[in-house]
Amino acid sequence: MAARDRYSRKLECSQCGNTGFAEVSEDDTPSRKTRGFEIDALPGGFETEFASSNPRKHMIRCRCGHKFKFEQTTAYAPGGEPRA
Ligand SMILES: [Zn+2]
Repeated sequence: MAARDRYSRKLECSQCGNTGFAEVSEDDTPSRKTRGFEIDALPGGFETEFASSNPRKHMIRCRCGHKFKFEQTTAYAPGGEPRA
């Protein structure tokens, strides 16, 4: 049976600086086309704008109105944080 991978990922709004950790899970099955990405819990101040099974398409909306993708395609320096 397929196992579910669970992990948390830090969200940071580049507009107002709101941060928190989202609890997410994915299918741990390499043969599947989709990762079965799901957000199980969002930190305070963030909500789902557009749900997708692809974390690069899943849109989060901050309480300040700023919208951003759950998983950014931009590569940050190790240990670095995104800055506007
Ligand atoms: Zn914000």
